[in-house]
Order: sequence, then structure tokens, then C-alpha cells
Amino acid sequence: MEFSPYVTWYEKTATERPSFDTLTDSIECDICIIGGAFTGVDALLHAAEKGQKAVLIEPGKIGYGCTGRAGGLIESGLNTTIDDLSDFYGRLSAHSFWNSTIEARDKIVENIRKYNINCDYVEGLTYISRNKLKRDGYINYVNYFSHYFDSDPIESLTHDDVQQKLKMPSAVLGMHFMKSGGFNPLSYLFGMAQAAVTQGAKIYENTSVVAIDEKEKITVQTNAGTVVCDHVIVCGNAYMGGESSPEKTQTVSMNYFQIVTKPLDQELLDLIAPQGPMVAASRGDLRSYLQITADKRILYGGPEFSDVKNGESFAAQKLKELYFYLPDIKGHVEVDYVWSGAVGVPMNYVPIFHKVSNRHYVTHGFNGHGVAISCFAGHVIVDAILEDDGLYDIYSRIKPRPIPQWVHHTVAKVTLILYRLFARRFNA
Ligand SMILES: Cc1cc2nc3c(=O)[nH]c(=O)nc-3n(C[C@H](O)[C@H](O)[C@H](O)COP(=O)(O)OP(=O)(O)OC[C@H]3O[C@@H](n4cnc5c(N)ncnc54)[C@H](O)[C@@H]3O)c2cc1C
Repeated sequence: MEFSPYVTWYEKTATERPSFDTLTDSIECDICIIGGAFTGVDALLHAAEKGQKAVLIEPGKIGYGCTGRAGGLIESGLNTTIDDLSDFYGRLSAHSFWNSTIEARDKIVENIRKYNINCDYVEGLTYISRNKLKRDGYINYVNYFSHYFDSDPIESLTHDDVQQKLKMPSAVLGMHFMKSGGFNPLSYLFGMAQAAVTQGAKIYENTSVVAIDEKEKITVQTNAGTVVCDHVIVCGNAYMGGESSPEKTQTVSMNYFQIVTKPLDQELLDLIAPQGPMVAASRGDLRSYLQITADKRILYGGPEFSDVKNGESFAAQKLKELYFYLPDIKGHVEVDYVWSGAVGVPMNYVPIFHKVSNRHYVTHGFNGHGVAISCFAGHVIVDAILEDDGLYDIYSRIKPRPIPQWVHHTVAKVTLILYRLFARRFNA
């Protein structure tokens, strides 16, 4: 069994990893992007598509952060509810924000087709609840989408309907949402990076930002070179910044884990996932999610409140959880890969868009629900720079609440969990 943040199942199964030089010169560009993952590469490709001279720098290999470790669920929506967003920011802003997360997923599908990205994309995501008390929440959610969207992207599932997709006897009800799905995140990232380079953008790996100096032009000082530019977009997420940086003071760092089983026998696979590869998650509870992959494995993940130190015992503990959900697999599966990673969670679970100046943008805090929105966030910022779109204004209206350092590790985590479990209604 492999237990390492670097040797993920994605790293083993993704399409060929592209490799990029280290920046050792002084170069000039229109937009410099810091952070080589979903947000950064999305910004890079969009800037290049818009004819901008764009450069991205990444301290390791692209996809090293959350992106290359994600569960691969592409979820529309946010980790909070439309009603909660509306309470704070008004119905119109909340609806626009929510709607843009669907646009984000649509953009992923468009990119997959446009750039011919081979990333094992699975359309549709099944949300499952084992809790009768969540019934109204699921019904509200389905009603909300049926009311607001022209097409009918969502359907309610009874216990029996759920079993057709995933044999989970304890499921009470569910819903299947076509505007979400799953993929191999690294393959998607590599495809996007290749597309950006083909459009004329530059990527530098093993290149870390050391300082950003704003004068007439912006100078991004790296470990061995310099980028002089008109605009800078910082997309370093939970992996960026010192103790007083926005990435650290506006979010709480939490761990997410993933385990991946060895391939299952076809007979067992047909029993637990009669319709083949699929993606499932809980909603309105503490999150856990799984993918049945094209190569017949179960990929299971969710938040983890302690550090993962010992891969073997951690895998055994998580397998027990999985047996509880899918009792038919008990005794028939082994774990091949275990990894974890840190996500930055803002107090209100809404991603943060912050301007240091009109030329210097920072975005982060996509938490454990960040794949779709981070694949779109860079795009939104580039449009704001080019004055093409008003979506950035909606995003930036949602202000982060600073989190004092002294509460970071314990009180803040407990508060976040309580918020998730009790304080928030589960409505659309
Ligand atoms: C284990 C795990 C499972 C997850 N599963 C899911 C899921 O199934 N669905 C979902 O929606 N979300 C999931 N998430 C969350 C999701 O992966 C993230 O929200 C998303 O990938 C964030 O992308 P990003 O580009 O903003 O940041 P990241 O992917 O974290 O990338 C930040 C990049 O910035 C770089 N960087 C840091 N410092 C510097 C510097 N000084 N100079 C230059 N670059 C720097 C880092 O090296 C890194 O490459 C998961 C997260 C984890 C950890």
C-alpha cells in the first residue's frame, strides 16, 4: 500500500505529466499568476485565450496542492445553502453566486470537449442521505433547482432508486444531480495546462514567489528570477503565505483524506454499482464521498480531524467506515493508496476574493467543495482585470470574517463543525 501525499492514485493513473522549466531570468508579461493548480491554471488559460501574455509560477510541480489530491467530485453549489447566502447578501447576489457555480461545472465540461481532455469524466452525482430528518432539505433542494433552471438537472431518488446506483442499504433517500460529476483532477489539470501553453502562456515549475513589489509595474520576485507585470493573481490556497497572510488569517486549515481500494471483482462491482462508474456524496451532513472508478476501484474520502500519521492503521479505520456504508464489500477489498491534504475553510464556507489593489488579486478558501468553483475563479478574476464581466463584484461582496490566530486550531475547528451540523438549515 502506498501512503504518501505525492504518490496518489491520480499521479499513477493520470495522463502524462507535463514538465516545465524553472524561472532563472527576468521576464515581462501582462498577468502573472502564482500557484499551479485549478485556480491558477484556469486563470492562465483564460488570460491566454483573451490574448494576454500570461505567466504562471509554481514552487513544486503543478497540482501539488489540494488539486492533485482531491476526491475528484465536481460539485455545483457551495458548502453552504442559498438561504444562508441570501440572509447575508440578499437573494439576488446569492442566486447569482450559486448560478455561477453551475456555470463553473459547465465550463469544465466545455473545456474537456474543446481541448479534448481525457480525464475519465463521469456525468452526474448522486447525493445520498441516511438521515430521515434530512428529507425536507433534499426535497427543498430538488424544488429549488426545478424552479430556477430551464432544464431539469435534478431528480429525487427513493431508497430503491438509490440502490440501483449504489447498494447502500442504510440510504433513506437521495437525489441525482446532472450538473455535477467526477473526474481525475490531475488529468484535467494537465490538459488545461497543455491548452494554456498551446495558446502561448508560460508555466514555470520549481519557482516560488518570495516578494511582490507594486510600483509603476508589479515585480514578482521569485527564488531565482523576476516577473515584471501589470497584474498579479495569487492562487496559493492553503499552501501559501505566512502566519499573517490572508490565506492564514481568513481561513482555518483542515485535513481531508482519501483512500483508494485495489480493483474489485466484476461480480462484486456489479452488485454494489449496477450502473457502472459513479460518483456519490452526502449533503447536509458532515461530508463523505466516493467514486466508483473506471478501473473498478472505490475512492473514498472526506474531512479528517486529526493528522494522518500511520497509513496502515488509518486505512483500516476508514475501511470500517466504508463497510458500514457498503456492507457487501466487507472482507473483499484492500486499500492500495492513502493520502491527505490541507484545505483552507473560511468561517462562512464561501470562497474568498480579495483585492490588495486594483492590480493585485488574491483568491483562496475553496474548502473541501472547491473543484468546480476553483476551476472557474481564475476566469472570473481575469474577466475583472479585462473589465469584461461583473461576476467578480458579486463574488467580492461576500467578505471574509477574520479568524484570530489563537483560535485557529481547536476552537475554530469545533465552531466550524457545529456550524455545519446544527446552526445551518439544509435548504437550497
Ligand atoms: C484530500 C482532498 C480531497 C478533496 N476532495 C475534493 C472533492 O472531491 N471535491 C471538491 O470540490 N473539492 C475537493 N477538495 C478541495 C479542492 O481540491 C480544492 O478546493 C481545490 O483543488 C483548490 O484549488 P486551488 O488551485 O485553489 O489550490 P491548490 O490546489 O491548493 O493549489 C495551490 C497552489 O499554490 C502553490 N503555491 C503555494 N505557495 C506558493 C508560492 N509561494 N509561490 C507560488 N505558488 C505557490 C501550491 O504549490 C499549489 O500548487 C479536496 C481537497 C483535499 C485536500
